[in-house]
Amino acid sequence: MTVKTIGIIGGGQLARMLALAGIPLGYKFIFLDTYAECPAGDLGEVILAQYDDKEKLLELASRCDVLTFDFENVPASALNEIVKKVSFYPSAEALKTAQDRLSEKTLFDELGIPTPDFLNIETKDDIKKAKDFTFPAILKTRRLGYDGKGQVRIKAYNELTEAWNKLGNTVCLLEGFVKFDFEVSQVAVRDGDGNINFYPLTENRHEHGILIESNAPFVNSVLESLAQTYTKKLLEHFDYIGVLAIEFFVKGNSLIINEMAPRVHNSGHWTIEGTISSQFENHIRAITGLPLGDTFAICKAKMINCLGEMPNRQKSLKDPSAHYHDYAKEPRPGRKVGHITYLSKL
Ligand code: AMP
Repeated sequence: MTVKTIGIIGGGQLARMLALAGIPLGYKFIFLDTYAECPAGDLGEVILAQYDDKEKLLELASRCDVLTFDFENVPASALNEIVKKVSFYPSAEALKTAQDRLSEKTLFDELGIPTPDFLNIETKDDIKKAKDFTFPAILKTRRLGYDGKGQVRIKAYNELTEAWNKLGNTVCLLEGFVKFDFEVSQVAVRDGDGNINFYPLTENRHEHGILIESNAPFVNSVLESLAQTYTKKLLEHFDYIGVLAIEFFVKGNSLIINEMAPRVHNSGHWTIEGTISSQFENHIRAITGLPLGDTFAICKAKMINCLGEMPNRQKSLKDPSAHYHDYAKEPRPGRKVGHITYLSKL
């Protein structure tokens, strides 16, 4: 089938950058979002709806040739109906797995990808079971956590009940605290014929659980090879089509997986200017059946997230290596409103 229109569930900055990459390829975009003035709204029609509005999701499905998402928390019940109507990428299975930290970590374990220790915390009995767990640890809500939200750090077992109360006694995952050296992410893309292209590793710095800065390419052949082996296992497990991002903790020469995002990822924003074909373009290519573009770095890149409000454009661009990305979002403390990528020679 020839693709003309791509639907995206969610109209945030990821949808905006997907459209910015897909429009030159000749595609039209329709977004479903709760907010008419969403970042992607400048680039196509927005269907205004809640993400669990089955009727509107099915309207979106009926009006596009292929459907993807930038918002991960689409309810599974709605997903089951959508996938019967339209090609949906990456697979609904990958999305459902990533929506729940327990299913995600269980799968990593099954595939032999090292994870931090973890324990499901759903009831008071589960709290008792944590007596033998090694602390310090982090208690995370299993669902709907992002950018460090829904997480409490715990020094010792006696703080666990209070932390669980703080998170609203919701289903949680207790994770061993990893004393990592630094964090890297692997972004990769797989097409419908099973071809995989890996982007270079990116080194990431987080503060309070939120990504602040990414530097790429991070060159280390041992870690690259490990990251590619682990990522390939996940891509093949899901018969994945599109971009997948994996976050890892680095300890010496080993990688411990933190989480996966079945979508384009903040730590891959540098690929817009820093590689032959960006993560956004390759996601669009993969889901529309086009050949994949090369993923190697053509320069060094430092990506800085703009939190709260955008810095002055005039001043920022006084640095001639800077590329300024404004997501057209209302300023709000701590909110990701844009990013700037600085390039230099390899
Ligand atoms: P997450 O939302 O799970 O990706 O966590 C956000 C950030 O919190 C990570 O990028 C790490 O910097 C930190 N973090 C999360 N889980 C752990 C862990 N088990 N051990 C140490 N740091 C962690």
